[in-house]
Amino acid sequence: MMDFKRVLIKSSMLSLFHRIFNVKNCFQCPICDYYGKFESFGPETGVRKNARCPGCGSLERHRLQYLVLGETIPGLNTRAMSMLHFAPEFFFRRIFREKFGIYVTADLLAEDVDRKEDLTHMSFGDNSFDFLYASHVLEHVQDDCKALAEIKRVLKPKGIAILPVPIIGEKTIEYSKPNPHEFDHVRSTGKDYYEKYKAHFKTVKLYSSSDFNPLHQLHVYEDRSKKIASMPLRPAVSGDKHEDIVPVCFK
Ligand SMILES: [Zn+2]
Repeated sequence: MMDFKRVLIKSSMLSLFHRIFNVKNCFQCPICDYYGKFESFGPETGVRKNARCPGCGSLERHRLQYLVLGETIPGLNTRAMSMLHFAPEFFFRRIFREKFGIYVTADLLAEDVDRKEDLTHMSFGDNSFDFLYASHVLEHVQDDCKALAEIKRVLKPKGIAILPVPIIGEKTIEYSKPNPHEFDHVRSTGKDYYEKYKAHFKTVKLYSSSDFNPLHQLHVYEDRSKKIASMPLRPAVSGDKHEDIVPVCFK
């Protein structure tokens, strides 16, 4: 696991090397430090180019979120902080467990977590956590305003929540029920979705794929221009390079 500062120094040195020797299609993973070709894979929407790091299995969103953590965590006394990790990803578990004084994992359905919790009705008291992380969760929650209110409730004053969702197009489209062909998503979340967070948090800081070194491969390269029959409400989007956005919310 790389230190956040080392990631920056190493990526700027590698970028220089890339420019001088005109290296193409080689990337560096900020999470595991792998350098080389990344793997493409084929979801229902088509081929997603250079998506996965062969070293640790991270996807574009994981690498972007890791870099956002590098902007957020240094300077915080995390040893004195408590953290709730909802729907925990395995590589982030290691980082958070190491850094935070109190670390609790939770999920509605998964077995390998500390607590079974419904994000819209959590059993934790008010002001319980300093930091909350729930990535790609809110697109599964019908009453997302209730979930956001709950997240704010369990956060301590000045608490931080990182709550990214998949960015499909410009506008969010609500579904009337979960779509089983789309991992039970109840909406297609667009760039406008994070506006909703502003009603619950004092500050919402947005980081995009374009804010960091392209050496880490943080954009989603995917043809989304065709409508998919099993995802009738998901909009078709032109272009084959899509930006991901990670919101950091301050109570
Ligand atoms: Zn990796």
